[in-house]
This record gives sequence, C-alpha cells and structure tokens, in this order.
Amino acid sequence: MTERIVVGAALLSGGRLLAARRSAPPELAGRWELPGGKVEPGETPEHALVRELREELGVTAEPGGRVPGEWSLKPGYVLQVWTARLLAGTPEPLEDHDELRWLTPGQIWDVDWLDQDVAAVKAVLGVWNT
Ligand code: C5P
Repeated sequence: MTERIVVGAALLSGGRLLAARRSAPPELAGRWELPGGKVEPGETPEHALVRELREELGVTAEPGGRVPGEWSLKPGYVLQVWTARLLAGTPEPLEDHDELRWLTPGQIWDVDWLDQDVAAVKAVLGVWNT
C-alpha cells in the first residue's frame, strides 16, 4: 500500500507565514494548519498545492521548494510541505477555514497548530530566509 500524500503550503509573503484555522471536521476545528489537502490520483504534489490554494483561499500561488521531511497523519496519509509564494489575489478563508493569520517568525507559536503540523512548521522555520 502506498501512502496518500497531503500537501501543505508554507505560503510566505513579506517575511510572514500564512496560518489557517480549520472550521471542520469538529475534531480539528479551531486548530491551525498550513493550508493544503490531498493529492489526487495522477496529480503532482505541486499541482495539488496550486489547486488547493485556489480552492481554499482564492489565490494563485507558485510552488517553491520542498521542505525536507515527511510527517504521518492518520493511517495511510503523510504530510509533505512546499514553500509557496503569492502570484495573485489576497487569501480569504473560502473553504475549510474560518480565519487566516500572517505570522512573523516571532509569532509562529502564538497559534494552536494541529499536532501533526507542529513538526512541519519547525521544518519550515529551518528553511525560512526572512
Ligand atoms: O484538507 P483535507 O481534508 O484534504 O486534508 C486531508 C487530511 O490531511 C485531513 O485529515 C487534515 O486533517 C490533514 N491535514 C493536516 N495538516 C495540513 C493539511 C491537512 O493534518 N496542513
């Protein structure tokens, strides 16, 4: 069995990282994550990232590099993270989220990240050139 990849976007702009607060499902609601979602069959992770950011936030984004590491989610799913930059649009919580925050490196731990995103966010800090 191959694991299904979930892509998370480290969307960076003006020295800040975008965090998104989940509105569903109930067990995840209120916790913060890197926006993203499941890679569909036949899709590259980079394409999935662009699609998810369009669907969830209404923006056009360009993937940068893969953040080293891979983090287990529920059984059968792993989280991989790419940096991304905004090409067009202003992020809005259109789907799955009810609040967005742009965080400076010093504010990163002000939000209650999903458990599985904590390690991924630490890895993002490791590659983040502010
Ligand atoms: O957003 P979507 O429902 O497609 O995400 C698939 C799964 O990946 C969900 O269970 C979600 O909790 C998880 N996920 C995560 N961290 C992220 C993005 C998604 O744990 N940054």
